Amino acid sequence: MNYNSILGQPVLVGSLKRAVKEDMVANGYIFCGPKGSGKKLTAAVFAKALNCRSEEDDKPCGNCTSCRKFDSNNHPNIEIIKPTGASIKIKQIREIVAKVAKRPFESGFKVVILDEAEKMTQDAQDAFLKTLEEPPANTIFILLVQNQYSLLPTVVSRCQTFFMRKITTQQIENYLLEHYKYDKEQISFAAISANGIIGRAIEMLSNKELQESRRLYVSLISKISNNSYTESSAAAGELVDSREAAERLLDFMLSWYRDILISKQDCEKHVFVNSDNADIIMRQGEKLDENKLNRIIDVIKRTISYINHKAPKTV
Ligand SMILES: [Zn+2]
Repeated sequence: MNYNSILGQPVLVGSLKRAVKEDMVANGYIFCGPKGSGKKLTAAVFAKALNCRSEEDDKPCGNCTSCRKFDSNNHPNIEIIKPTGASIKIKQIREIVAKVAKRPFESGFKVVILDEAEKMTQDAQDAFLKTLEEPPANTIFILLVQNQYSLLPTVVSRCQTFFMRKITTQQIENYLLEHYKYDKEQISFAAISANGIIGRAIEMLSNKELQESRRLYVSLISKISNNSYTESSAAAGELVDSREAAERLLDFMLSWYRDILISKQDCEKHVFVNSDNADIIMRQGEKLDENKLNRIIDVIKRTISYINHKAPKTV
């Protein structure tokens, strides 16, 4: 596990490497991004680099005693706080602050990772803020959040915030092809549906229900293509029971209608994302002209953008 394990986050990784190299490490960091975007992995690699004993700049080295302890999940300098029940409570914050203040520790930095930090209660955030105002020596707090606005502005202002970027479908697909043994179409579907979030793609590959949903999406689009509006709206209603399900369906539809657009091109061999359904795509393409296809694609894109910016988060 090192910085190469973190996909598509060059700005964040560059800043963290620089902080270690130039010995300009902040007391508090916020890594903000959806579930599955690599926040925890990034925090773990940063903690490992901060404690690496190599003389070289390329930390973490993976070979020193500290790195080896990290790799066996056995390093005394790292603490992970998670919600107990629905929240992270003031008691947990007080306990961890007392622990990092007192405990004799190995040289290097103590790193406290607060997972789902937005679940800190108001009291817990107040206590945490006091800690940030007078931080224990050589201690770094990393808050992992899906939404920074759920933290007190005073907490945010005392931390360096980084946003996890969405990575490209191609990057996800390449990673999955390299690391997982599934059919190309299954991998393409997971990559497209993951909406730029690698963890979502990996979860999708191992989730039979989500794989089954791809078959249902094709069936839904066939109903739309046959102008069966009552049937298609009923089927869509059954498939979409959450924001994530709506995003997955829309991402799939976008890839599908783009494939149909490609089918209109005059070339010898069409390269479709959904190549296992090439015959259906070609048939549906016969019923749609390019203007109509571009309008459909535009509506899907605008709906995705609307969901991303307006709809309340359920993840
Ligand atoms: Zn090392």
